Amino acid sequence: MRIAIIGSGASGGLLALMINHYRPSWFVTIFEKESVLGGNHTWCFHPNDLTKRYSKIIDPLISVTWPRYQVKFPKFVRILNTSYCLIQSQSLEAALRRQAPHQLKIEPHEIQNPLGLLDQFDFVFDGRGLNQERIFELPGFQMFLGIELKFQRPHGCEYPIIMDSQVEQIDGYRFMYALPMDSTRLLLEDTYYSNTPDLDQKVLRDRIMNYAQNHFGAVDQVVRSEVGILPIPVSSLKFDDLDNKRIIPIGLRGGYFHPTTGYSFLQSLRFCSQFVDFVQSHEDLELWSQRYAYTQSVQTDYYYFLNKMMFLGAEPHKRFQIFERFYKLPEGLISRFYNMELGFSDKLRLLSGKPPFGPSTYLVRNTLKWLRRGKNSLKDVNETQHYIS
Ligand SMILES: Cc1cc2nc3c(=O)[nH]c(=O)nc-3n(C[C@H](O)[C@H](O)[C@H](O)COP(=O)(O)OP(=O)(O)OC[C@H]3O[C@@H](n4cnc5c(N)ncnc54)[C@H](O)[C@@H]3O)c2cc1C
Repeated sequence: MRIAIIGSGASGGLLALMINHYRPSWFVTIFEKESVLGGNHTWCFHPNDLTKRYSKIIDPLISVTWPRYQVKFPKFVRILNTSYCLIQSQSLEAALRRQAPHQLKIEPHEIQNPLGLLDQFDFVFDGRGLNQERIFELPGFQMFLGIELKFQRPHGCEYPIIMDSQVEQIDGYRFMYALPMDSTRLLLEDTYYSNTPDLDQKVLRDRIMNYAQNHFGAVDQVVRSEVGILPIPVSSLKFDDLDNKRIIPIGLRGGYFHPTTGYSFLQSLRFCSQFVDFVQSHEDLELWSQRYAYTQSVQTDYYYFLNKMMFLGAEPHKRFQIFERFYKLPEGLISRFYNMELGFSDKLRLLSGKPPFGPSTYLVRNTLKWLRRGKNSLKDVNETQHYIS
């Protein structure tokens, strides 16, 4: 089998490693337009059974595992004894380079038209990531500026603070995210659950530097920075419309991400895991990929409903109350929410009780606004497959 993978990010890179390990007789070629593989990322996730099952591949990529993490809200602080891991794209790059050139071919080329690869390859996995120009039609975004800082003295932050919502609420739900990379280095992200994808980097940078100074001490140097504008959809998304069954979109391009966080690392792992199961079977790949896309879309419907409540139901300045209530729930339920493993009773539990915002004209006004948006209306978003490429 000759396989082409476009893009060496979380989805393409992981898939290449998995095929290499579990199907070494297949010829895999990665096409990557940048000179580095894997991009410039720090991928965090809550490890689960999948990560344990593929620990041979995943464990060597993990640079830090914290046994717990913290959330902070105006009315309470909570420590969750659930582990949280970090993989940096450099580790993925190193793992891919170790396989090349004998088992894995790496082509430093930009592929404009995936269809053109079908002459030479049996299947093409399209992992080109988000097409940023096309996400602006959505009602909600998780966006952030992240800056990795080196402090003059140990910062004292032992484990991640994945939401510090004690900061001023601006532009929807705002929180700070802090990841201790080591005793003097921290990655700080100023994050917004906003209705618009407008991010002023200069302003966010100043807010991060003030937060750093006030909470962790004097900064020695800025190590690196990253910007994310992640889609928070209210209905099924697919970022490609190439109508060819031999081209299989993966990662963000395939719409495989957590609908409420925009994160995709675990979804990419889930795709790889099911693909590995598939290669042991004799099923047709075209049918398999269609069935996979369908089963994923069924799972995500519930999350779309939650997103609608968050972006169309809650007034932006009250949005943080949704998360404040969520983080009072049992730890197991919180983990299952992030791992997209919610059972029926979990779903009921999440929706039980009084919503943290009362009936408001905001919902009516916002829904009407979406209905008036013509092509991109709420009606369209809800009732049709929303293809974005
Ligand atoms: C700043 C930031 C932080 C994030 N943090 C997390 C996190 O902590 N945890 C998490 O789960 N998710 C996170 N995400 C969300 C998501 O998981 C990542 O964006 C993830 O990298 C997406 O994987 P992907 O493979 O779909 O796309 P990408 O990782 O973006 O990979 C796409 C690759 O395709 C290449 N490419 C694009 N076009 C072409 C072309 N025409 N020809 C050849 N190559 C091409 C790109 O250069 C890139 O290497 C984050 C996103 C951002 C932006």
